[in-house]
This record gives sequence, C-alpha cells and structure tokens, in this order.
Amino acid sequence: MVGEEALEYGGHTSCVEVRVAGRVMIFDAGSGIIPLGKSLLEEGVSDIDLFFTHVHYDHIIGLPYFLPAFWNKARLRIWAGHMQDGSTPEQLVDGIFRPPYFPITKDYMRAEVEYCQFKPGDVLEPFDGVRIVTGKLNHPNGAVGYRVEADGAVFAYLTDFEHDGADGDAEVLRLARDADLALLDATYTPEEYPRYVNFGHSTWDHCGALCAEAGVKKWGLFHHMHMRNDIDQAEIEKAARTAYPNSFVARQDQRFELQGRSGK
Ligand SMILES: [Zn+2]
Ligand SMILES: [Zn+2]
Repeated sequence: MVGEEALEYGGHTSCVEVRVAGRVMIFDAGSGIIPLGKSLLEEGVSDIDLFFTHVHYDHIIGLPYFLPAFWNKARLRIWAGHMQDGSTPEQLVDGIFRPPYFPITKDYMRAEVEYCQFKPGDVLEPFDGVRIVTGKLNHPNGAVGYRVEADGAVFAYLTDFEHDGADGDAEVLRLARDADLALLDATYTPEEYPRYVNFGHSTWDHCGALCAEAGVKKWGLFHHMHMRNDIDQAEIEKAARTAYPNSFVARQDQRFELQGRSGK
C-alpha cells in the first residue's frame, strides 16, 4: 500500500541499505532503491555493492531508476546467486533494461558496472571487514538469504522464503543464528496463510519460532503484503509482539546501529 494510508510503515518494495566501515551495500532493488539512489548521489557515494536475493519484480523494479547507475563516477558491483539455470547477473540485468519494458538497454548505464556471480552457500568478502554468508531459500524460482558479519555484529536478511520444516528452515536457522538483527518474510498472517501455501512466503508466527530457535536478538517482519495499510500493520505488530516481544513490523526508512566487538 502506498499513500496516506501507509505513512507509518511505508509502501516501497524490498530494498535494504547496510553500511560497514563507510562502505555501502544494498540488498535488493525494489522501489525503495529510487529514493535511496537520490540520497546516495547527493551524498556523493560512488562505490556500491548491490546484492539481489532474486529477481522477482518487487526486488528489481527500482533498478532502472537508480540514479548512481547513471553517474559516470560511480562503481557498482551487482551480485546474484539464486539462478538455478545458470543465468549470469549480467543476463539478469540485461532482462531488466529491455524494450518494450524499458526504453533503454543496460549499456546506457554510465557507472562502471561489475557483475559478480556466486552460488548459494558461498561466503562472500566484497571488501575488507565484512563477511557475507549466503544460503538457498525455499522460494519459487529460487532466492538467496544473506548473513552479514562485521566486527562480531550480525545482520540477517531473509526475505522471500516459505517455512518448510525441512532444508529451507535449516538454512534460515543457519543464517539467522545468534543474529543481532534479522529481517524475515512475514507476508501473511497465520489466518491468511492456508490460502497461500506454496506461494513462497511465510508468517510472523513461523518466523518467530525460527528466530527463537536461532537465538535472534531482534527481528523485523518484512515483505509486507502489498494491500496492508497502517491500521492492518499495527494490528499485526501487536499480535506478533505479544507472542514475540523482540519482534517488530519493519518500517520504511527505519534505521538500526549494531555494535561491533571493538565498540564501533
Ligand atoms: Zn519473490
Ligand atoms: Zn518478494
């Protein structure tokens, strides 16, 4: 939901910025990357790592409007690892910038773009001081979960998965283990879920059980169903927090600072 009915929680699709030691990482290029790109450009940030969980529309729709991609001083590394058919990150981006869906091709991007492919399960070290553990999530067409570790602090980004009581849950538990902060797919309420089995999304009660088992310190319900307004979200937050006091409903522009071992 966008507009005045969703001012408190926001209506952009998935995009999360993570900063470590002054470096900028972005997870997913949903519509939230559009205002983020504008503010990064104003700040003069020229070096960016962008990680896709997967390329369903809600996670890529903002990329053609991401201003740093069109800035000739920017360096952009685009990471993807979810494709089971072997498609490369460059092929994925090629598919996004393609007439008739978009008037220009990716060759119009003026940033220096590097494409970085990996496999779910790989550990990525995009720059000194950060380690990113990846894993395969249970989602149609595949999706990757990320565990970002820096100076002892851990953030887990686990969207677009459906709990399965099997290998998928094991990966969620592995990636979320003892995280300081995690964002998880809680698209559906427990009451709605029976209508959406096998759609690839989870519920706050299943996420809560997984986070409790994984020892997550604080976790946010993420990937809101698109028709929710602020009243719906507040009700969901109340129910979730009653069962899991360390949970919250993620809000647009919400910020967190995680303390590393060295106190930074
Ligand atoms: Zn998806
Ligand atoms: Zn999605």
